[in-house]
Amino acid sequence: SPVLRYAVFGHPVAHSLSPRIHAAFGRQLGIALEYTAIDAAPEQFDVALAAFAAEGGLGANITLPLKTRAASICSHLSERAQRAGAVNTLIRSATGWEGDNTDGTGLIRDLTERHGLDLRSRRTLLIGAGGAARGVAPALLDAGIGDLYIVNRTSERVDALADALGMPGRVHPRYLADVGTLGNFDLIVNATSAARDDAMPTLPMSLATPRTAAVDLSYGEVAIPFLAWAKVAGAHDRIDGLGMLVEQAAESFERWHRKRPDTDPVYAMLRERADALVTA
Ligand code: NDP
Repeated sequence: SPVLRYAVFGHPVAHSLSPRIHAAFGRQLGIALEYTAIDAAPEQFDVALAAFAAEGGLGANITLPLKTRAASICSHLSERAQRAGAVNTLIRSATGWEGDNTDGTGLIRDLTERHGLDLRSRRTLLIGAGGAARGVAPALLDAGIGDLYIVNRTSERVDALADALGMPGRVHPRYLADVGTLGNFDLIVNATSAARDDAMPTLPMSLATPRTAAVDLSYGEVAIPFLAWAKVAGAHDRIDGLGMLVEQAAESFERWHRKRPDTDPVYAMLRERADALVTA
């Protein structure tokens, strides 16, 4: 039978763990698949995706900075991708690409099932309004958090995200520069890519309390500045994005292969490797 072809598109994408995760899931469930990483700058993405489709590509993950662009090329969007206005999973269909977004479900599953957090009524701060923030914001609201403050460096994307969420009494877009005026939070989610550029913004210690759970969507060295801040600020739980990464991958895998992998052994394997990287 022909090899099943999948890929992750991003820019940069060389360090993506997704090929390793999907290979491990495939081995676990006895599905022979090929999953590669394809680097495509935004202006090259459409052409690169068309080439992948022509070579028989059946599905793809989409990572930064391509998630909103990917949403615009789909012939059909799942409800959660539509609400997010961002796509992290493409599924080949007879009429083109269907877009889905598994980031939000992945985050909620990691926080509630792996880490045992009760998210209900938590006053929440989401830092960032890019593709990842768009995926997780609707899922956090669905999971029953309290008020959601979203702060961003610039206003355009944060206002657009708040408009898309459409809950003016519950969702509050603000400038990142004004974060010190917002009080403290029970849940703080860092969804910026700032630390990738060594530009993690300075956050006031007053944002966190001993009840706070602090979550960075990134992992490895990129997650260190925010999680180190959270420790000094006294946050009770400090969680990186590795578990979310594995859970969103499992959710994508299930869309493509109609089988759900066991994420625990794959998470354990990556955790060992990530800790080794960080302490190296
Ligand atoms: P995008 O490029 O779409 O968005 C980047 C966000 O970071 C924007 O809000 C941007 O603000 C902000 N930002 C960038 N630089 C700075 C800075 N110097 N100071 C303040 N804010 C800044 O990226 P994504 O949303 O796709 O990804 C964000 C992070 O989430 C990445 O680290 C990614 O690895 C991680 N992620 C993890 C996943 C997982 O499964 N664990 C899944 C998805 C993402 P502005 O609008 O002002 O430019």
